Amino acid sequence: MARKFVDCRETPSESGCTLAIVGDADEVVTAAVAHMKSVHGHDEPDAELAEMVRAELKDAPGVLA
Ligand SMILES: [Zn+2]
Repeated sequence: MARKFVDCRETPSESGCTLAIVGDADEVVTAAVAHMKSVHGHDEPDAELAEMVRAELKDAPGVLA
């Protein structure tokens, strides 16, 4: 199964974060939710953040797939 990918650069933020997370969809969602809370200061419920991440998931490009 192709890995999934989210890229912080595609979501403009004040911190100019460049993190990209690649893995199985569930792994990416879990890691991205933790990242959004710890680095970007999000305080929405986990379920809401997870939904935001799932909407952004793409197939991992090239060598990362
Ligand atoms: Zn970030």
